[in-house]
Amino acid sequence: MAGIYLHIPFCIRKCAYCDFVSFANAGVPDQYIDALLTEIDLVARAGEYPAAFDTVFFGGGTPSLLTGAQMQRIMTAVYEKFPIRDGAECSMEINPGTAAREHLEAYRNAGINRLSIGLQSTHDALLKSIGRIHTSAQFLDTLNAARETGFDNINVDVMHGLPGQTLAQYQDTLETVCDLQVQHVSSYALILEEHTPLYANIESGITKLPDEDLIADMQDMGIDYLESRGYHRYEISNFARDGFECRHNLNYWENGEYLGFGVAAHAVVRRKHWTRYANVNTLDEYERMLKRGRRPLAETIKLFPADEMFECVMLGLRLTRGIERKAFQKRFGVDVTEAYSDALEQLRKRAWVIETDNAIALNRKGLDLQNEALGFFM
Ligand code: SF4
Repeated sequence: MAGIYLHIPFCIRKCAYCDFVSFANAGVPDQYIDALLTEIDLVARAGEYPAAFDTVFFGGGTPSLLTGAQMQRIMTAVYEKFPIRDGAECSMEINPGTAAREHLEAYRNAGINRLSIGLQSTHDALLKSIGRIHTSAQFLDTLNAARETGFDNINVDVMHGLPGQTLAQYQDTLETVCDLQVQHVSSYALILEEHTPLYANIESGITKLPDEDLIADMQDMGIDYLESRGYHRYEISNFARDGFECRHNLNYWENGEYLGFGVAAHAVVRRKHWTRYANVNTLDEYERMLKRGRRPLAETIKLFPADEMFECVMLGLRLTRGIERKAFQKRFGVDVTEAYSDALEQLRKRAWVIETDNAIALNRKGLDLQNEALGFFM
């Protein structure tokens, strides 16, 4: 599999916890689209990309700030310049309160067939506490509009560990999302990042996060609840109805190739070596380099086979199905149990691993303690 990622780094306002590369703006300037199309053209002309692509993903930022015409321009360029397979999964992230019905229609006409809606919580006070721009009612309007427009593959993002959040509030949110019968749920713990307003408020004692035990209870309850409602956990934080796993993200976790366009986007492709690219992360520099006809690269890293193998393990162990032994053997010429025999021994001692003839995977305890588990592979 291979994918294409496009970064739309604009949001109406920054959320209090956000450290993603995004800039407060009411819309997406056309000059950003021009730069994106130039980058797409440069990469296509260089010709160093996989033979075919299975997914296209618009992330952000808030891609639903794109107008229909802007989305059409980008999708036309992507399809013109790269071989996209029939039936490709084409996703975009949308934020409630930004995606007008006519925009949703235009996105669909441009080829988008999967939406990921950032809800986070159905409790307006919690949404306010983390600086989200929308209410729970606006989420419902967006979901209804998306369905009426014909979208039938929809993810909803929810969060736990929010300031002042109770277990019951988190369960309410999950219940509402499940009752709405969306196809996929991403359930993340809030990560407190330095240099964000939320971090400053917590440091100064204005805001308080739930304690660690409560966060762990939320995590446990969330997994049990989503599974009891028919959403199988296929990655640490991702749950899907059968057949609705996010193919774009599966490709990341399988350490597949992908191109990335836009400010701060990353790409990984196999040239002679497995090679990782990272774009510059300021708008000025991004647009300036493209105006001069140069790719806006901040760095290019050639990975040694040992690094590539380690990344496969790190990413593969996020998946509940784990690392497929045959695929690993084919890619690296060695069985994963031989390549990492000491690390696996540590996991066995702690009873954190499931080993079969086909795969090795972390069990639920191992997934809970994934950072510690991965430490043995370093
Ligand atoms: S919508 Fe997403 S990217 Fe934008 S500020 Fe909020 S968390 Fe950050």
